[in-house]
Amino acid sequence: MNASPNPNLHPCFNAEAKGSYGRVHLPVAPHCNIKCNYCNRKYDCVNESRPGVTSAVLSPMQACRYVEQVIAREPRITVVGIAGPGDPFANPEETLETLRRIRRKFPHLLMCLSTNGLGLMDHLDAIGEIGVSHVTITVNAVDPEIGQKVYGWVRDKKIIYRGLRGAELLLDRQLRAIEGLKARGVTVKVNTIVVPSVNDHHVEAIAERMSKLGVDVLNCMPMHPNAGTAFENVPEPGKEMMEEIRGKAERHLPQMRHCTRCRADAVGLLGEDRSGELHGCLTACASLPRDLAERPHVAVATLEGLLVNQHLGEALKFQVWGKSEQGFRLIEERTAPEPGGGLGRWERLAEVLKDCRAVLVAGIGDNPRRVLTMRGIEPMEMSGFIELGLEAVYSGRGAKEFKARKSGGCQKGFGCLGTGDGC
Ligand code: SF4
Ligand code: SF4
Repeated sequence: MNASPNPNLHPCFNAEAKGSYGRVHLPVAPHCNIKCNYCNRKYDCVNESRPGVTSAVLSPMQACRYVEQVIAREPRITVVGIAGPGDPFANPEETLETLRRIRRKFPHLLMCLSTNGLGLMDHLDAIGEIGVSHVTITVNAVDPEIGQKVYGWVRDKKIIYRGLRGAELLLDRQLRAIEGLKARGVTVKVNTIVVPSVNDHHVEAIAERMSKLGVDVLNCMPMHPNAGTAFENVPEPGKEMMEEIRGKAERHLPQMRHCTRCRADAVGLLGEDRSGELHGCLTACASLPRDLAERPHVAVATLEGLLVNQHLGEALKFQVWGKSEQGFRLIEERTAPEPGGGLGRWERLAEVLKDCRAVLVAGIGDNPRRVLTMRGIEPMEMSGFIELGLEAVYSGRGAKEFKARKSGGCQKGFGCLGTGDGC
């Protein structure tokens, strides 16, 4: 059985964890349902570090592959978060599908979300069921008179609200969402973007109200005057102003002081961001087919069509299997590329199997594993009945589940998975 994620290993919520543990943001939510007057999500540059910026937008499947690759390179990652580049609940299908996939595949990781809170109410139960433990809501005002100066518009179910009505609606949703999260035992952080001469005098009132709702921590962030926004000419608050504001807010709530204002595709430790370095993984994953529907099949290295019993390199042909309502069915056999040619051989194999989401093999080397994974084909090492491997792939449990079952060993010496259900 997998251990539950340790909530203390979130580097944003626990400053002591920031030097040892990291997070990866999955940019799966491109759209937003409000317009903050300081936000510009159009600009993309790997050297630009601020919320709303990403080098690519991933589908849930691509995001899952990306997490696999990131964790292989940076095992100190303990948190997977979704922080845009828009709002997670302006893209609820993508957000929840990503979280579910991550939860299935990486049960040991903490999951968090960062949202404006407008669309959160409808998904509170899903969040609880998936096991999202940390949520951040950005609350810039608890007085709609002030809020209306921060937001250009608020969109709810295709209707756009501006001015006071928009700010009232947003605040009402945020307050109810926070109550709902706390009722479900979620740790809640509130981010407040400090905008000089707009809400800088109002932050203590926000802290006081949030404290009454049971919010755990407040993160006062200086507004970045982004070019092309309504606030582009508002000066960025200085350190002195921010410390004074945090000091007042601290009378009501603990303060986060180690925030690094991360990109929507940030990855690594807070003080050791690796998004530049892992940029290649992100863009490679973004170029994978966006939907598994484009990869309906599974390839199998087998001698006789019953067991997975060939190493990838020794297989001269692969069976290609699919799934229909009647169950698994063999579609055809395909000839493997001729041996030789270095990595090119595996590139050619990826092309032969380009409609396959996984390949079941008795063994595989590091190079072909890397090439096939980068091309969207998951290698699953196993021995035993083909059908059990197909079940693991099509159920979404994948290689991880399979390995767990494999480690149990066959009780009857048949070299199969040892679950008892196939014997
Ligand atoms: Fe930008 Fe976030 Fe505001 Fe949406 S909620 S407009 S993504 S800052
Ligand atoms: Fe943590 Fe701040 Fe980065 Fe969000 S923006 S992940 S709170 S450090």
